[in-house]
Amino acid sequence: MTKGRVSNKKMREIAEQRMTQLLAMAYEEASAGHIERARRYVNLSRRISMRTKTPMPKGIRYCEGCLVPLVPGLNSRTRFRNGKITIQCLECGDIKRIPYIREKSANDRKRSD
Ligand SMILES: [Zn+2]
Repeated sequence: MTKGRVSNKKMREIAEQRMTQLLAMAYEEASAGHIERARRYVNLSRRISMRTKTPMPKGIRYCEGCLVPLVPGLNSRTRFRNGKITIQCLECGDIKRIPYIREKSANDRKRSD
């Protein structure tokens, strides 16, 4: 690899690929019950994210409390409530609330009255 001559865009592309890969691996490990290994992958992914100032890829959720990839039915519990999704990490009990957005028609609902 040549040093210093990689554009930011390129660097982020590489970072994103790497993070996606790490998260996928983390998810697999978590599914197989290898929690510590899974955490390590999430951790690595986050470090790449911070170092390269690239947002973490969407798709695979992880607990921000204990960095475990959240596998529905295994170590996380998902509930719908008042138009929000709550995801509880069963490893550390942390609860995350996210607004419920339909993936396809997210723009339809963005009218401010
Ligand atoms: Zn947790």
